[in-house]
Amino acid sequence: MKYLLVLIVLIVAYNIWRKNRIDSGTAKPPHRNPTNAPPRIPQEMVPCARCGLMMPKTEALEQGGRHYCSADHQRQGPA
Ligand SMILES: [Zn+2]
Repeated sequence: MKYLLVLIVLIVAYNIWRKNRIDSGTAKPPHRNPTNAPPRIPQEMVPCARCGLMMPKTEALEQGGRHYCSADHQRQGPA
């Protein structure tokens, strides 16, 4: 019975010590550093000259200064 009491005191003391460590910031909780994430580069969006669908400029088909969403719309030309 005496050892059980000692064990309980040790567990409580350990929990208090652990809580103080977390509160004081010595034990940093794991979290993602946002600066480590790859930067998101905003893409320029252009409308399809035929149907007006917005799409990234890098995915658009360009012809004569106009952008098209597909080869079909590129063939049909501007609306
Ligand atoms: Zn289109």
